[in-house]
Formats: sequence, structure tokens, C-alpha cells
Amino acid sequence: MSSTHTPSLNRLVPLWPFFKSVTRSFTDRRISLWIALVGLVVALLVTLVWLAGRYEASQYQAELDRDAADAISDIRSNLGRHILNLQSLQAKGLPPKLWQSDVVSLLGQNREWLRIERRDMQGAVLDFADSPLREPLFNTKTRMNEQIEIMQTCLRAKRLNGPAYSRTYFVPQANGLGLEVMELCLPAIEQGITVGYSLLTYGLQDILAMQLGDTYGRRNEISFVEPDGTRLAIHGTLPRAKRLFTATQLLDLPGNTLVLRMDGRRAGPDMFPSILPALVTAMSIALVSVLVLLVKDSRRRLKAERDLADALAFRKAMEDSLVTGLRARDLHGRITYVNPAFCQMVGFDAHQLLGKSAPMPYWPSEMVGEYQQRQAVRLAGNAPPREGFESVFVRKDGSRFPVLIFEAPLINVLGKQTGWMSAFLDISEQRRIEELSRASQERLQATARLATVGEMASLLSHELNQPLAAISSYATGSLNLIQQAQGHAGTFADLQMALARISEQASRAGKVINSVHDFVRRRDQDREIVSPHLILDAVMPLVQLQAHKLQVRVSTNLDDRLAPVFCDRTMVEQVLLNLARNGMQAMDHPTCQKRILTLQVKRAASSLSHGWIEFSVSDLGVGISPDIAKQLFTPFFTTKTEGMGLGLSLCRTVVEQHGGHLEFVPHEPQGTLFRFTLPTASEV
Ligand code: ADP
Repeated sequence: MSSTHTPSLNRLVPLWPFFKSVTRSFTDRRISLWIALVGLVVALLVTLVWLAGRYEASQYQAELDRDAADAISDIRSNLGRHILNLQSLQAKGLPPKLWQSDVVSLLGQNREWLRIERRDMQGAVLDFADSPLREPLFNTKTRMNEQIEIMQTCLRAKRLNGPAYSRTYFVPQANGLGLEVMELCLPAIEQGITVGYSLLTYGLQDILAMQLGDTYGRRNEISFVEPDGTRLAIHGTLPRAKRLFTATQLLDLPGNTLVLRMDGRRAGPDMFPSILPALVTAMSIALVSVLVLLVKDSRRRLKAERDLADALAFRKAMEDSLVTGLRARDLHGRITYVNPAFCQMVGFDAHQLLGKSAPMPYWPSEMVGEYQQRQAVRLAGNAPPREGFESVFVRKDGSRFPVLIFEAPLINVLGKQTGWMSAFLDISEQRRIEELSRASQERLQATARLATVGEMASLLSHELNQPLAAISSYATGSLNLIQQAQGHAGTFADLQMALARISEQASRAGKVINSVHDFVRRRDQDREIVSPHLILDAVMPLVQLQAHKLQVRVSTNLDDRLAPVFCDRTMVEQVLLNLARNGMQAMDHPTCQKRILTLQVKRAASSLSHGWIEFSVSDLGVGISPDIAKQLFTPFFTTKTEGMGLGLSLCRTVVEQHGGHLEFVPHEPQGTLFRFTLPTASEV
């Protein structure tokens, strides 16, 4: 969680349900948008392909029109050249024989020339020659059929004083076929006067073949048509293709007008008929591919969005169910994130906390200085202890509560620290339970003490009986002595002794009672520096009380110059008393002849426990079997009919509360040795 991310997340989380419903309606709308987009793209592509096709067609049509126009100009220039040929032939004025040979060679060079004639002014044929490249087209009879047409053409030529062309006409052939031909009549002029005519018969088919065939005939079908569409001559082949393009041009000749028609076919259904549609198709394919990729990408994004939303919802659920308070701060100490548990803990809303910096509203006013110092230490980059530290916060309602704080640096994805993340545990309940358990522990200890006192009561009565009886008999004796004493000096000495004994016995009784009183009185659990001697002195009268009853000899063994210990005196006295009592009870058995209880205090032997004092209580009793040893410290475990089974467990608690250690070992030659350690005042 980066510092920039956290606040935005805080803002986002409440928006989640709204975000979900909006996402659903977005999904529906997105589907229709996608359908519309795909439809539009398809329509665009179809239009593009269609336009490209149309453009291509128009290009082709324009090309065909240009070709037709070029073809017309080619024909014109050729026809013009032919006229020049004829004129030069006329100019030579050759005699018939030479004319024949000249004309035949001309006819051989121009395949579209079928026949040349020389006629006089009346139209009578003077000379003629047929093309050597084919069968003669006319005989005299068939030629006569066209006489009128020829004469009209020549008269027109005469009128024009230049070349004139006849209408086209059909000449049937012997093989059942025929030819469409056209005549050119050129007047022969000598000194401005028409003296005759030259006639040149053209085969229309051959004009097309010879003049246009190579250039235009390969790709197109070229034909001369009449204005009504009747085909007069045709040349070339049409490639097999779907679309037919047609271009027509007029060949306007003096005396005749021909229509040249050029037909070309275009391959329509080809997938890639030309570069432009191919380009458009390629672009369309690319566009569709991009669209597909886009769809895939958007699906992936949608999935990522959904995953993110799921993760967000999961995180929110997690945050809401957390009982640990979480708070993030940036490097300037400003709060950038708090979770609901933290808000609940301190009683402030998230918006009241976000962006706040020291002093925080949940800091107790008198501790602001201390907390600010702590925050400064943290912001300087010093990591807090891993096990956390305790602090006190104040709720919005003014109540205080203890918290356990764990802090860790907040590291972003780049590995850079962006702030601090803290987790808070409200430990007020824990504290309450601890307090309760401490109180009940104290009560238990007091009860245990009282139980011991109960036990001691009978001993007390027995024990106090002796000094009191002694006091009473000394007092009676003293009274008697006073009565007899008149004048006897020795009696005074006896009286003195008796009174001294009375005071001694009375103070002994008082001591016994005081020690019981001290023991029972419940004191505060204050630790103090106290000499081990004093502890031992305090318990000795009570130990002696029981030792007396059980006929046990108590021996003490104290090192000189023992350092004072730092302890709760009452509790330690109770531990000693418990151990001594247990030891004496263990020796209260017929098999135990020697009944000696040894209380020893010395410096702890091990170097590890240097600075510690060891107390030990050893007996020569029955010892502890392994079965009993297992349960020895279990509360309420006892082997005695009137025992409570709390003694040892309390002893261990007390010793461990002081940081010490309680253990037992078998004692030689028999019995058990219990020992425990306490720290010296200097160690603490
Ligand atoms: P209680 O004295 O009320 O029985 P304790 O916790 O002091 O409770 O002792 C538990 C049991 O441990 C005793 O009942 C006894 O059986 C055993 N025990 C304690 N001290 C000794 C000892 N010095 N020698 C033998 N047994 C012992």
C-alpha cells in the first residue's frame, strides 16, 4: 500500500455498491456499443470497397475513352497519309502499264486497300487494280451495282475539290461471306480543272485490323457501327470477364460519318482486381484485426477490472472484520489511512483523522510532548521494537485506554519507504483480566495464609499456655516471696529473678502473637531491600511453633555478609514458611527417626546466577516419589487429608514473579531439598 494509494482507496471503498450497479449497466451498454461499432466498421469497409471498385471502373472507362479517341486520330492520320499517296500517284500521270505496276505495289503495302481505280469525268473505269493480297472483290457486274453511289461520292469530291468518302456498303463474296467496304474518291485536278477521279476501296474490317489491331485490338473489341448500333466491321477479341465497358467515338469524314466503338471487359469478381481495392482490402483486414485485438484487450481489461473490484471488495471485507486497528502515516507524520477498527477504537470518523498530523486528537493532552518526541524518533528512521510498545490513547468521549502498538516501515512497490504502518491492539480488556487475576492471586495467597493461621491456632494455644502458665506461677511465687520477704536480702534476689522471668515469658508470648499477626496481615505488594537474616528471623518463631509440636530440630545455616535481597518480604516469608512446614510434615512419619530441618541461606553457586541469593530448606522426611513429583506444583494437589494443595504452586509463582527459580532435589541420606533464588538488591 503506497501512501498515495491509501487515501484514494479510502474514498473508493464506500463507492463499491454504486460501482457494481454502474458496471452492470455499462456492460449492457458496452455490448450494444460494440455491435454498433462492428456494424459501422463493416459498412465503412463495404463502402470503401465499393467506392474503390467504382473509382477503378471510372478509371478504366476513362482509359477506354482515351484509347477510342486515340484510335480515331490514328485512323484520321492514316487516311490522310493515304490521300497523299493517291495524290502523288495522280501527279505522276503514268501511262496505264506503269500505273498498274505502281498501284499493285501500293496495294501490296496497304492491306486495307482493296482496289484502286482511275475513272474519267463520266465515271467510266479507265484503269483498275485489285489487291494482290486477296481474291478480287468485284467483277464488272457487281462493280456496276455501286455505280450510282460511286458517282455521287465523286461528284461530292468534285464539289469539295478534295477527297470524299462514300457510305459503307456490303459486298457479298462467293464463299457466302462478305465485306463491308467504303470508297474514297479523289478528284484528279490539272491546272485547277477536274480531269478525272481516283477511287480507293477500303475494307472496313482491314482498316480496323491494320491501323488499330496491334495497338488496341489485343485488349478490346473494336468495331465500326452505324448510328443505330448495327455492326459494320469488327476486330479484336473480348477477354472473358464480367463487366463490359464501352467507348464510342465519331469518325467524321467528308461525305460519311462512322462510329468507332471500343468494347473492353473488366474482371469484376476478382478478389484483388487492382492495387487500390487491394490496398483498401488490406487496410480493412488490418482494421478488423485491430478491432479484434481491441475486443480482446477490452475483455482482458474488463477481467482485470473485475479482479481488481473483487480484490477491493475482499480487502474491504477484511478491513471491516479486523479487530486490529490499522493506521498509515506518511514521512511527514500525516495520517494517510485508517481502518474502521481504528476509528472504532478512538471514536473518531476516518475523515476526522485523515490528513491530521501531530498532535493527534487521540493523544492525552499531558502526554503530547512525550508522544511528539516518540514520533520524531520514528520519523528520523528509527524502527520501533518488533514486540511492540505500550501507549495510552484517549477516546473522543475522553475515556482512556491502553494500546499495544506495532510499527513497521511502509515500503512501496519501488522498494522506497513512503511512511509508517502501525497496528493497534486495545489491551484494556487484557489489563482488566490481568488485574483480576492478580487480585484473585492475592486473595488466594491471603486465604492460604489464613489457612496456615488456622492450623497454627491450636499450636498457639499450646505454645502460649507454657509462657502464660510460667508467668502465672512466677507471679504467684513473687507474691509469696513478697509476703515472706520482710527483711531477707536473699529473697530480693529471687524476686528479681522471678520478675525478670515474668517479663521474659510475657515478651516471648508477645513475640509469638506478633509474628502470627504480622504473617496474617495483608500488606501491599511492595518490594523492599531486606537482609536475608531478617527474613529468616521473622519466620523462625512460626517455624519453631510447628517444630515443637512435631518434635523436629531446626537448624539454620547463614553465610556471613550476605548481600540484601530486593523482594516482597511477606511473600518470601510465606514461601520459606510453606517449605519448612512441608519439610516438617514429611518427617512426621514413624520411619523417620532423625528429624532435622535445615534452613540455609547462601550466595548462589553458579556463575550464571552471580548476584543471586539461594534459600534452601532440607528435611530428612519420606522424600518425593516420581509420581508425586510430576504433579507437585499443580494447584490443589495434595497427599494430606487436611491439605489444600496450594502451597507449592503459590511458592513457585512468588519466586518466579521475583525473577528467581524454585526447584527440588532428593536430599542425602534421605528426604528432600527445596531451594529457590532471589536477586540481590545490586542485581536489580
Ligand atoms: P499441601 O502442603 O497443602 O499438601 P503443597 O503444595 O505445599 O500442599 O504440597 C503438595 C504435596 O507435595 C504435599 O501434599 C506433599 O505430598 C508433597 N510435598 C511437599 N513438600 C514435600 C517434602 N518436603 N517432602 C515430601 N513431600 C512433599
